[in-house]
Amino acid sequence: MDSAPQADQHDHGHVRDMRPMEDVRREILNRIHTLAPIELPLQEAYGCVLAADVAAELDMPGFSSSAMDGFAVRASDVASATMDEPVTLRVVGRAPVGQQPDTTVGAGEAVRIATGAPIPAGADAIVPIEHSVAEGIEVHILRSFPEGANVRQAGEDVRAGQRLVPQGRRLASPELGMLASSGHASVLVSPRARVVVISTGDELVEPGRPVTYGKVRDANSYTLYGGLREVGAIPYLAGISRDEPEVLKEEVLGFVGRADCFISSGGVSVGERDVVKKAFFRRGEIDFFRVAMQPGMPQGFGMIDETPYFGLPGNPVSVFVSFEVFIRPALLKMMGRHDIFRPEIWAVLESDITGPRDKVMYARVRVWRERGQWRAASTGPPGSNLLGTVTKANGLAIIPVGTDTAEAGSRVRVMLFRALEEEK
Ligand code: AMP
Ligand code: MG
Repeated sequence: MDSAPQADQHDHGHVRDMRPMEDVRREILNRIHTLAPIELPLQEAYGCVLAADVAAELDMPGFSSSAMDGFAVRASDVASATMDEPVTLRVVGRAPVGQQPDTTVGAGEAVRIATGAPIPAGADAIVPIEHSVAEGIEVHILRSFPEGANVRQAGEDVRAGQRLVPQGRRLASPELGMLASSGHASVLVSPRARVVVISTGDELVEPGRPVTYGKVRDANSYTLYGGLREVGAIPYLAGISRDEPEVLKEEVLGFVGRADCFISSGGVSVGERDVVKKAFFRRGEIDFFRVAMQPGMPQGFGMIDETPYFGLPGNPVSVFVSFEVFIRPALLKMMGRHDIFRPEIWAVLESDITGPRDKVMYARVRVWRERGQWRAASTGPPGSNLLGTVTKANGLAIIPVGTDTAEAGSRVRVMLFRALEEEK
């Protein structure tokens, strides 16, 4: 295929009244609210943001226990113990896990103890089994241990009343363990956003069905599904909607109340079949505008009964880029996250990248580290139908407004959209 520098056919045409990408994103983010918190069991709360501080109700650990299998003793009794002159103690009982010990440790006495078992009264140190020799009802201690040796003190991790996990923290493995350990079986979190995805177009066919000449498989539902899963939202693929404004409108309205966000692709520009525009323009809820970006120039955004609606253009790469630039940060904000943007790095370009001077260009690149430096290479021509260039990429190089050619050897900002080790 011919790869003219501005192969984004769909985005061509008149580019008057284009709005800067940053302005559009700021306005969208200003209109997005964090979802009302809900109480979820820990397993479901995984990956969600904690909506309120959680404090420890009790000391953690809740009681002093042994850190080793061995003998609970009085440190003063074993102070002189050596290999050559062991101290011999009388074994007066056993301290098992899960119970309060019923024996106490007096002078000259020891209690056999398991890891995690509560320390019996009178004892103040644990002699690990490998530093002892048991013999009948006696035990020979081969080394001295100071007071507190191998004892896990009550409250040494967290004190009652102290904060366990702060509000705003995304719940990952350490937090879930901590919450479980302190007896919080459920917590108040910002819920996952439920997002309805609709692909529009008379030409579209589901991926499992045969295509006849001229038909196009629905890629966008799945591109969006992946992005939504990655971001921690709950995608609902509503399927393909034909280019019939009334049908689309009915379908969307049918989800109101059950969705936190709508995303449609296709039908937002100036063509005769621009179904999303026809369905919602008159209701006045959705704005249709041009953003000074490539790909992804025509966009629709608005509220359907207070639920955000993103009307993306139809080209598959435009969908990918629009999701990254507008929807991903918006959903993260909805779900209570503070870190809503992808990490960006500066990388040195391998070869020239040319784009439109009056738009910010998101160029698909592969970046890697080489001799202490990030390098970036284009993964192919800029056509916004060329999904292959996205699968080869791990970043989007941001070629700013005012630059038409970013030259080989120059430094560009690159937004990383996947972990580098996921390559190959
Ligand atoms: P539109 O914005 O509806 O004019 O669509 C622009 C281009 O994107 C056309 O070539 C469509 O066939 C294509 N397209 C629209 N929706 C999809 C989709 N869900 N999957 C793949 N290609 C699509
Ligand atoms: Mg269409």
